[in-house]
Amino acid sequence: MNKKNLYIALVAVLVVAAFFVGGMVDFTAAPQQQPVAEQETPTEPTPEPETPEQPAQQPDRPGVINIYTSRHYGVEPVFDRFTEETGIEIRFTTGSDALLRERLKAEGANTPADMYIAVDAGNLWLAAQDGLLAALDSETLLNNIPENLRDPEGRWFGLTKRVRTLMFHPDRVTPDELSTYEDLADPRWKGRIAMRPSTHSYTQSLVSSLIAAHGVERAEEIVRGWAQNEPVYIDSDTQLLEALAAGEADVAITNHYYLGRILQDNPDFPIQIFWANQDDRGAHVNVSGAGVTTYGPNRENAIKLLEWLSGDGQEMFASTNHEFPANPNVPAHPIIVEFGEYMADPLAKSEFGRLQADAVELLHRAGYQ
Ligand code: FE
Repeated sequence: MNKKNLYIALVAVLVVAAFFVGGMVDFTAAPQQQPVAEQETPTEPTPEPETPEQPAQQPDRPGVINIYTSRHYGVEPVFDRFTEETGIEIRFTTGSDALLRERLKAEGANTPADMYIAVDAGNLWLAAQDGLLAALDSETLLNNIPENLRDPEGRWFGLTKRVRTLMFHPDRVTPDELSTYEDLADPRWKGRIAMRPSTHSYTQSLVSSLIAAHGVERAEEIVRGWAQNEPVYIDSDTQLLEALAAGEADVAITNHYYLGRILQDNPDFPIQIFWANQDDRGAHVNVSGAGVTTYGPNRENAIKLLEWLSGDGQEMFASTNHEFPANPNVPAHPIIVEFGEYMADPLAKSEFGRLQADAVELLHRAGYQ
């Protein structure tokens, strides 16, 4: 049998096998796994893939919007809805915030990307600094997105809010023992805290907010206090919460939606949320957001999509990941409404980018891993 015939025979066997199995299995059923908005794995492979999966190099039909995004798992139905409503098709290239930003930079005026979606305001700020995002003058976006959640020059707009706050196990900690991020530097928390490492942008942006609130010197004292309390370092918010549940630590700092996500599947999960710093500046809020690229070929459609995401598409976009909508007129997912009202640190999100390099150096000096 030559190679071609062998191949045909193999295919025939597979088709027959599929026919029999098909009697028992519904091939059209959706995968059982719950979609998540940003996949999170602690070590290798990294949470947001380092290698873009679908290079957007092939020629597109006119008007197709190419998006470089680190936020992709589970959000496809949102973009499908946009395509249904407008007839405008969308294609994705996925990777980490930083990797996609570097790619945009390297491609320069030849980039096929019309939009950049990132999961951290610091990265949006850096993309704008590099001239990769176009300044938009859109009434719709200005009306839908509050001022402190967007770039003052209109180059990027926050679309969802994520609160990075305290999480605790109620068997080992009571809420009246908790107060602020700063308090976790107190020696009474020694050996009892779990934290995300310094290499993650979530940690860097949180430390940027400490610098903005206290200045570098005091912020460094706080972070040194955290480090001296010998945290369990885990590079996954989901696993931080699981470590709390397993008794490996009593308090952790994570984004709120990871708890929402776990509670969706397991309403009896024992970990509880505590809104940090409610008696002073408020809890640390970051955004996921987007900008239209400087050189993308389909700017008009990309603006249309961004406006839609800030309005009609907001609820769906935010609730797929249990995040708070950036647009204050849009309701949040019921699971996170249960977390209760919180006061947010009003700090402009652009500060996370501006202070990122200082935060990285500070973390290193303070001995925080
Ligand atoms: Fe996340």
